Amino acid sequence: MTKQEPGQQKTLKGIAASPGIIIGKAHLVDRSKVKILYQYLIDERELEKEVERFREALRITEDQLIKVKNQMPDQVKEHAFILDSHLMILKDRKVTDYTIDRILDEKINAEWALKKSIEEIKEIFEQIDDDYISSRINDVELVADRILRNLSESYQSLSEIDERVIIVAHDLSPADTTELNISKVMGFITDVGGKTSHTAIMAQALEIPAVVGLETATAEVEEGDLLIVDGNTGQVIINPEERAIIEYEEKQLRFERYRWSVTRASHLPAVTKDGHRVAIRANIEFLEEVTAVKDVGGEGIGLYRTEFLYLRSKELPSEEELFEDYKEVAEIIYPAPVTIRTLDLGGDKFASDLDIVREINPALGLRAIRFCLREPGIFRTQLRAILRASAFGSVKLMFPMISGVQEVLDAKEVLEEVKKELDREKVDYDRNMDVGIMIEVPSAVAMSEMLARHVDFFSIGTNDLIQYALAIDRINEHVAYMYQPFHPAILRMIQQVVEAARGAGISVALCGEMAGDPLCIAILLGLGIDELSMNARSIPFVKRIVRSLSFEEARRDLEKVIELSTARDVRTYITQRMTDLVPELEEKEYLEDWVAEGQIAEQ
Ligand code: PEP
Ligand code: MG
Repeated sequence: MTKQEPGQQKTLKGIAASPGIIIGKAHLVDRSKVKILYQYLIDERELEKEVERFREALRITEDQLIKVKNQMPDQVKEHAFILDSHLMILKDRKVTDYTIDRILDEKINAEWALKKSIEEIKEIFEQIDDDYISSRINDVELVADRILRNLSESYQSLSEIDERVIIVAHDLSPADTTELNISKVMGFITDVGGKTSHTAIMAQALEIPAVVGLETATAEVEEGDLLIVDGNTGQVIINPEERAIIEYEEKQLRFERYRWSVTRASHLPAVTKDGHRVAIRANIEFLEEVTAVKDVGGEGIGLYRTEFLYLRSKELPSEEELFEDYKEVAEIIYPAPVTIRTLDLGGDKFASDLDIVREINPALGLRAIRFCLREPGIFRTQLRAILRASAFGSVKLMFPMISGVQEVLDAKEVLEEVKKELDREKVDYDRNMDVGIMIEVPSAVAMSEMLARHVDFFSIGTNDLIQYALAIDRINEHVAYMYQPFHPAILRMIQQVVEAARGAGISVALCGEMAGDPLCIAILLGLGIDELSMNARSIPFVKRIVRSLSFEEARRDLEKVIELSTARDVRTYITQRMTDLVPELEEKEYLEDWVAEGQIAEQ
């Protein structure tokens, strides 16, 4: 990849992940494969310290590998030998002693010295005329990556960035995102990622503009380059000319002004012109967001993603910590309800420090409820905390990633045991607490009629449902163009779930990103969704749209929409309808912003 001339303007197009426009300086970080960005000489007097830094990284790496090995779930235990081989590599003199010698002899930093050792080992392996042995070099690289990560951890944590910068990274994990010092970091752009990746969702929660899936951002941007990041359209301009800066400053102002005019009316209820009411709630990731939800007129919390307390700390959170957090959320939002979702770790949400075994295909792996049922200790602690918090507000409990009736029965059995435990201890909780499930796996759609008999509510998670139903990795930028909420298969699945809920007399919410997309609202109303739960920022926009629509019209429209056979036809139809029904959408600029804010693929 050739870099552009210094100072020359260049535009990249990525995927709008979190709205807003920022203009600022680039700061490159690498959180994926740890590149040796830092090659530097070490002062004679600092050499011992550098060696100690390397030794400490080796110790941490060893501890991590042992922990991963000990916590391997039964079904993968037979592969424990891989970790043994990694531990052996870690102890190999070519990795350890040789690197230390290099640091001392060549007076270079540990990362650089290790990289040189690995290069040497690679050369030796390449000469071996045995496919199996030469392919083992991957293991050596994996171990080296881990050591480098542990070295770089001591080098720079994202939380230490204390300049007003725009982060440019190949990738950021949701855990990295939580580390960002948001009073300093203006926003971020990444090479990889899709619209509904958890990293994108985190950026929205933190209210920092972000563009993902740019593919070449880290290759094209230099440290300190001036950037314009348009989180509404996915455009990133490197080294913008004066004209572009002025244009974007104006755009920024217009957008903020418009956002403000919408927000002013956000406390009015979401009632259609013909009197149909739909609950508008928020998805949150942190306790700190609850006040903002109230400020923008959110009528409760439809999804509290509880993973992030687990991602934030090195240790598992205690029951007391969880209880305090949930209790506070329940109390602040009361009398409105909060739906607390049990742990949904796995997929693209990894608690690296919990050392959950990395899987080749994590989205289909030991994720969410599967993980909890396999780790009853972790699960029970969380259930106890949620139940105890239920005594302090209006709390609902929700299980993620349910794929069939058995999982609901199993999860409810654990819940019942925990309730009995609390009864014995005479601890108070809400005995009528609603228990629901997320419908986000296609098998749950097929089973929705039966599932509805076992729960108090459904919440449709379209982020995952689209991923699993259309076989589109939600975090893969190469297939992002196929991620289509308007795909007729998705609309029909939602319809089937709503009918199942109606038949059993339970309520049905939708909490995927689709719920916050203005273009989707008429369809979701027509489908009969009772509650829409979205990122807090979208609430004022969505409420405004609901108030401009008629429920009867939306139902009639749906009859037409459901007969269309491609996502493109649905999109064309609905864009036309929405611009007719909500005149301000006719202002193309706003429509573009809104469309970009939401999750609609351009197809
Ligand atoms: C979903 O899958 O739609 C959802 C809301 O859950 P998450 O995005 O946390 O997977
Ligand atoms: Mg999900």
